[in-house]
Amino acid sequence: MSIKVYIDQGHNPVNPNAGAEGNGLREQDVVFEIGVRLAAILNASGNYEARLSRPTADTQLGTSNATSLSARTNAANDWGADYFISLHCNASVDPSATGTEALVYSASGRSYPLAQNILLGIVNATGLNNRGVKLRPGLYVLRRTRMPAVLLELGFISNPTDAALLSGSPELFARGIFNGMNRYFGF
Ligand SMILES: [Zn+2]
Repeated sequence: MSIKVYIDQGHNPVNPNAGAEGNGLREQDVVFEIGVRLAAILNASGNYEARLSRPTADTQLGTSNATSLSARTNAANDWGADYFISLHCNASVDPSATGTEALVYSASGRSYPLAQNILLGIVNATGLNNRGVKLRPGLYVLRRTRMPAVLLELGFISNPTDAALLSGSPELFARGIFNGMNRYFGF
């Protein structure tokens, strides 16, 4: 049996729920590309079955910020996903802020060790620094998913080095997440 992974590429192409911008990039475009690559790698492996929240670049979910988020958690819940991975980019007013981090609902669930392994996979693949796993029980997509969920802040779109990696090497992020998942599942 393959593991069903719902990959949520954060945000929408345009408002409502458009993403952060920095260094000439838009978060929604960066995570769209990484998600497409991650789904392809997962589906090709034979161990996973992946679905994307935004299968095409112009997929627009919901008609408000709230319904954009609920469309994603409803799709994952209705499908019966085993795991939910949400892809985002961080942003800061401080352009020196850098690195990758993961957000989970609680420290006691399976999402926590999964997130730790995914972060290791990403930092090994990209060379970015590891900002660790943080608890964010208030986040909608972590709260309303019925399966273990990890929200990845892959890098800072506001940092020139992170931004160049995010846009220039989406395959590295996809491969890093895949490696981390394999390590967690023992594949
Ligand atoms: Zn975001």
